[in-house]
Amino acid sequence: MLPILNDIISLFYPSYCYVCGKPLTKIEKLFCTDCLFNLPLTNNHLYKENETTSLFYGRANINYASSLFYYNKGSNYKVLLHNLKYKDKKEIGFELGKFLGLTIKESPYIKNIDYVVPVPLHKKKIQQRGYNQSSYIAKGIAEIIKTKINEKTLIRTIYTKTQTKKTKIERWKNVKEVFDINNNLFNNKHILLVDDVITTGATIEACVNIINKKSENTKITVTSLAIA
Ligand SMILES: [Zn+2]
Repeated sequence: MLPILNDIISLFYPSYCYVCGKPLTKIEKLFCTDCLFNLPLTNNHLYKENETTSLFYGRANINYASSLFYYNKGSNYKVLLHNLKYKDKKEIGFELGKFLGLTIKESPYIKNIDYVVPVPLHKKKIQQRGYNQSSYIAKGIAEIIKTKINEKTLIRTIYTKTQTKKTKIERWKNVKEVFDINNNLFNNKHILLVDDVITTGATIEACVNIINKKSENTKITVTSLAIA
C-alpha cells in the first residue's frame, strides 16, 4: 500500500495502544511510548547465566536461552500475548519478534544461527486458529538476524488440549511425546527454537529432547517473547 494511503486510513481508523488503549501516533506501533518504556525487559541476552537458561538445567541440553520480557498474572502486558494467540493479531508476533531479534543480534552468547524454528502447532490446531503465533515471532526474528525459518523438520504429531488449566506435572505428561523429527536438516546445525511464552518450560523441554535424540550434533538456543 502507498504510505500516503496508510496515513489517510489511519486518520479515520486510528490504532490504539494494545496495553493502555491510548490512540497511537504515526510513529508508534502496537503500543505507546509510555507502555514501551515500561515493558519489563529481562535483558537476559546480556547475561551468560540468566533465569531462562537456568530453567532448563538438568532437564534439556541447550546451548543458551533468553526471553524478552517478564510476564505475570496481573501484568498489563498479558493482553499483548492474548491478542497474538487468540485474536488474530499476528502483527504483535511480527513486531515483537523484530524487537526480540534485535536483542539476539546484540547478544554475545548467540552466534551463527542456521535456522529459526517456531514451536510447532498440530495441523488441527492451525486449522482451528488459522495460524501459529510462534511462526510470526520467528518471522520477525528471521528478518532482523537474516536467517532462514525451518517449519518442516520439527513437527507436532499428537493433538493436545490446551495447557492453561493443567498442573506442572500434567503439562509435562501432556507434551512429553507429542513432537517428532521429520528429516535430517538439523544435523550439524545451530537452531533457534522460538516460543511465545515460557511458563514451566515443559514444551521446550519436549522439543529439545526429541531434537537431541533424533538429530546429530544439533546446537539448540531457545528464545521466547515472555517468561512467566
Ligand atoms: Zn500504552
